[in-house]
This record gives sequence, C-alpha cells and structure tokens, in this order.
Amino acid sequence: MKKLFPTSTVGSLPKPSWLAETEKLWPAWKLEGDALIEAKQDALRVTLQEQTEAGIDIVSDGEQTRQHFVTTFTENLEGVDFEKRQTMRIRNRYDAEVPTIVGAVSRKKSVFVEDAKFLRRLTDQPIKWTLPGPMTMIDTLYDGHYKSRDELAMVFAEILNQEAKELAEVGIDIIQFDEPAFNVFIDEVDQWGVPALNRAVEGLTCESAVHICYGYGIKANTDWKKTLGAEWRHYEKTFPSIQKSNIDIISLEYQNSNVPMELMELIRGKKVMVGAIDVAKHEIETPEEVANTLRKALQFVDADKLYPCTNCGMAPLPRHVARDKLKALHDGAAILRNEFSN
Ligand code: ZN
Repeated sequence: MKKLFPTSTVGSLPKPSWLAETEKLWPAWKLEGDALIEAKQDALRVTLQEQTEAGIDIVSDGEQTRQHFVTTFTENLEGVDFEKRQTMRIRNRYDAEVPTIVGAVSRKKSVFVEDAKFLRRLTDQPIKWTLPGPMTMIDTLYDGHYKSRDELAMVFAEILNQEAKELAEVGIDIIQFDEPAFNVFIDEVDQWGVPALNRAVEGLTCESAVHICYGYGIKANTDWKKTLGAEWRHYEKTFPSIQKSNIDIISLEYQNSNVPMELMELIRGKKVMVGAIDVAKHEIETPEEVANTLRKALQFVDADKLYPCTNCGMAPLPRHVARDKLKALHDGAAILRNEFSN
C-alpha cells in the first residue's frame, strides 16, 4: 500500500438481521436455497458499502457468507463428518459441538473463490480475505483419524495453500490466516504452528497475514481474559518464530488489552496490523484515542509498516456499534496521517 496507515478490520462484521441471527457466534441463516445465496450476495454489497462509507482502505467480505470463521471452511472438506458431533473444549475455554475427522482430509472444491470473485467485481480497493489457520482448525474439530496434531496441521496447511492460491488468482490482495489458538497452545507455535503457516503460503503470489488475538468479545473470552493477570505476555513467546516466518503481516490485539506494547518490537521488519479498536466493548473509541494508540505503536513499528486495525472480528457486535467503530478507526488514522504529511 502506498497510502500511509491504511485501515482495515480483522475480518468478520455483523450480518444484517434479514440474513442471519444477530450477535451470535454460530448464527442460524434466515433463508435457504437460492434465496440464501442471493441474500448472501446482497450482504456482501452491504458490508462493502458500510466499509467504504466509513473510509476503510483494505476491505473484506465481512465473512457475510460464512456461519463461522472455522466451521464454514471445514464443512467443505472431505473426511470431516458434520453429522458426527463431539463436544470439545475450544481453546480450553468453552464447549462446542464440533465435527469429527473420520478419514483422510482433502478439499472437495474451492470454498470461497466464487464469493471472492463476486466481491472483486464490486470494488477496486485492496481486499483482505480471511481463512482459518491450521492450529485453530485443529482446535475446532475432533480428530478421530490422524491422532497427531502436527501431522494434521500439515494436511490442513496443504489444503489452505490450494485455497489461498486460488483466491490470489482471482485478485485477492492479502490472505490472512486466523490463529487465535496461537495465544493458547504457545509451545506448539514454534514446533508446528509456524511451519504449517509457512507451508500454507508457499508459492503464494499475494501478501499474507496472520491474526493472533484473545478472541471475539464473547463472555467465555472476556471471563478468560480476567484470569490472565496484569500483563499478557503470550506474544513474547511466539513472536520470535513468527518474525522469522514467511508471513508478511501480523495482526495483533492491543486496545484495552493488557498486552505490553513493547512486544511489537519482536516482530520489527514485518508489517503490523495494530488493534486500535476494542471489539469486546460497545463504547466507541474516540478518534483521538485511536490516534494515541497508533502514535505509541510507532515506537516499535516503522511508519510505513503500521496498519491500523481492530482487535478481532466484529461479527458478534450490533451493526451500528461496528459501523461507528469503523468510522473511529478511519478518523483516528486520518489524524496521524495528517501529522505525517505536515
Ligand atoms: Zn481475533
């Protein structure tokens, strides 16, 4: 990006109430069949419009066509049985009924390429597309086949690589892998988490990103955050290997989190999407607050590599809250940009 401090969101945005249940992590669709396909495309138009109205520079699909950021991808894989559900503790935090891996996993067909083509036709702005990361996929499935997390990670990485290449071919500018699990299974990040990401971006012709956070603003996550103490130093253990990885951009959580900002120094040289918007609170940040966060981040991130962003996805928020937060992000980044151009 030529523009200084280009804004983006982590990925997901609230869905319109005519499309799906609102403020839910796994919302039920309100329509089915062809009507649902059409409604999802309308939602892509609406979410793009909301982002451009707010002045967001790098737009996304707002994950409007997915029920959930992980399961909608895994639903499309061979070897995953969605009828056979098992209760699993997700990221050691909350129980969910997850599908079971019953055999060798492979990708039946492109999962998001048609949606990406549709969005690409609607805008000339750079598009970031999110995919679940291998570790987070593993954490949202019951594995009854491989029984080896590192082996399964490489299988998923290969599948993600196929999907990512197809997305790049249809004009997606940044592919982002969502790895909230990196903040939980910290010791495994170096062992197989980062190697799997490197495999996922092999031969990719567009930019790549990894998003590592403390989760959506849902109760299970906010309760967990209360147990993490005064300083959250999880990034300290994982950033050194991420710094050496082939990933171009790191998206991290900062605003209202107890993450010591100096940990960003550990990924110096990478582009950093700094979370300047809290997604767990409905209260809207002021533009000055956003600008202050970004100004502080400049101690650890070079100006041409600082990308103002949200802490996480905003799918579970009311629409008007998400809209106002996007506007605050844009306005805050504009303050800083003005300072630099003067
Ligand atoms: Zn997140």
